[in-house]
Amino acid sequence: MNVGLDIDDTITRCPPLFSLLSHALIAAGHKVTIITLRSDRTSAEADLDAYGIAYSELILPEDHELRGRGFFRWKAEVCRRLRVDVLFEDMPEVESYVKNHNLGFFIPYTHEGAARSYIPDFIVRLRADGAASDGVPTRDALNLIIEVSGEPKPEKAAKVETARSLWVPAVNNDGRFGRWSFLEISDPWDAKNTIRAHLAAEGDGRGADQVTSA
Ligand SMILES: [Mg+2]
Repeated sequence: MNVGLDIDDTITRCPPLFSLLSHALIAAGHKVTIITLRSDRTSAEADLDAYGIAYSELILPEDHELRGRGFFRWKAEVCRRLRVDVLFEDMPEVESYVKNHNLGFFIPYTHEGAARSYIPDFIVRLRADGAASDGVPTRDALNLIIEVSGEPKPEKAAKVETARSLWVPAVNNDGRFGRWSFLEISDPWDAKNTIRAHLAAEGDGRGADQVTSA
């Protein structure tokens, strides 16, 4: 297995945990790849040593790799190229998330005239944003239903269309269950970009300070 670790706001949040994890992975014969947007290799190496991180490879972007591409697209490309299986990465907008397993959360839909239940993959709760000067958020947290799509299946379009066009507007109109939105993700490596692009398109984009934090 190849496990990717981000440095800032990931390893730096809890260096002892990532030190333990990285040593255990290397000892068990796995690869640990550090993927960071930092530009100074020497200081990154010094920090990793200070945090006690064991790793196989340290990847930093070349300037030309970032041009016209955006920070997060670069990370997604690195993960794909190096066949990283799992990437530990921060996303400050996310308050919490849950895999929709045994929660009893489903969306009824019909396919070819038959009533069925659609069970989406994840629910991600995104922080209430735009705190006003008195500290009261201008918007409630957003509950984002996420469907990770692999192989296209015939009933998938009916599920997604029902969730997006009927269920989400209905629950938002009702108003008792907070704000909801729906997003289909086809490239899991690029989930962070896809979620941020969706938020921006929905008028839920966060401040530039958060968008540039990596
Ligand atoms: Mg980071």
